[in-house]
Amino acid sequence: MRRTKKQIRRRLWVVLVTLALLVLVGVAGAGGSEVDAGGAAGPQQTQAEQSQQAGQPDQAAPSQQGSADASRPQASAAGDGTQTLDTQAANAPPEGTLTVRFLDVGQGDSELVELPDGKLMLIDAGTQDAGPTVVRAVRDLGRTRIDYLVATHPHADHIGGMAEVLHAFDVGEVWAPAVAANTRTFEAFLDAVEDKGLTIRAGSRGKDIVAPGTAGYDVQILGPSDSLSSEDLNDYSLVIRVRFGSTSFLFTGDAPKDEIRADAREHVDVLKVAHHGSDTGTDASLAAQLSPRIAVISYGIDNDYGHPTQHVLDALAASGAQVLGTGANGTVTVTSDGTDVTAAPAREGPVVAKSE
Ligand SMILES: [Zn+2]
Repeated sequence: MRRTKKQIRRRLWVVLVTLALLVLVGVAGAGGSEVDAGGAAGPQQTQAEQSQQAGQPDQAAPSQQGSADASRPQASAAGDGTQTLDTQAANAPPEGTLTVRFLDVGQGDSELVELPDGKLMLIDAGTQDAGPTVVRAVRDLGRTRIDYLVATHPHADHIGGMAEVLHAFDVGEVWAPAVAANTRTFEAFLDAVEDKGLTIRAGSRGKDIVAPGTAGYDVQILGPSDSLSSEDLNDYSLVIRVRFGSTSFLFTGDAPKDEIRADAREHVDVLKVAHHGSDTGTDASLAAQLSPRIAVISYGIDNDYGHPTQHVLDALAASGAQVLGTGANGTVTVTSDGTDVTAAPAREGPVVAKSE
């Protein structure tokens, strides 16, 4: 019985992936289309059968460097008043505050993002053991709802706490890459999404979680391409950029450095360093390309993976970044007022490498 249910759920997920691809093929570049697996039926399709579509043409985002007024998201020619809104905001500081907490979840990732309009986004939820920590962090803010819940990729140190989070809060949208993992942790995540009556939105390059010109900030998925086919689940990590005023934050999951290099070609103010500070996620040229003012590494102080590495710390230091890490500093809170970013670690102390 249990096995049958699992099989059905897996089949639904495969169908969801297939539908996501079909939607993308049909509506190239359209953002945020929800894929509803309910009642859908169709042939099974494996990852390898994905079409070799070219990536969504979303690389030509306007430069975010320079002053706030120069880098307001450009309004689309929608003729719906967006233009007026941007003109009004041209010489005024943006309203609100963007606060990102890089939660200390041990060896794993979890970033709690309070958006300038009061909405809440959670990117990853650490391991299953970290679930209570993440739930507490949300409750400590007096929150009962997570508007955007994002799983960067299906590894246990990123989605392990998701089921507990889903059961604890009212959840708006759930975003994840269109890839499945054959693990209990992933099953638990899907179960929890299903229990809440939600469906997963398949994230990939060119999709907007919050589109530019709609909320005074934007949240965009820069990668990977929906045509990605890889054996390594890390490669599917959603690369997400949040822009507010002239400031920008880049969240990278465990994405490989070449993917990030292709996705994010410009400076960002705050970087969630990829893959817990592993060499796979950062090198000197990427650090120089992004030139973050603040770089935060999420890792457990006693991890067995050699995270972070000295190479990565050196590369980030050479780029001029202030380097903080959850292992050394506990939860790191970074705040943007739209023109400047400031970091507040729970405790002081240098981030020390675990390996070369
Ligand atoms: Zn990880």
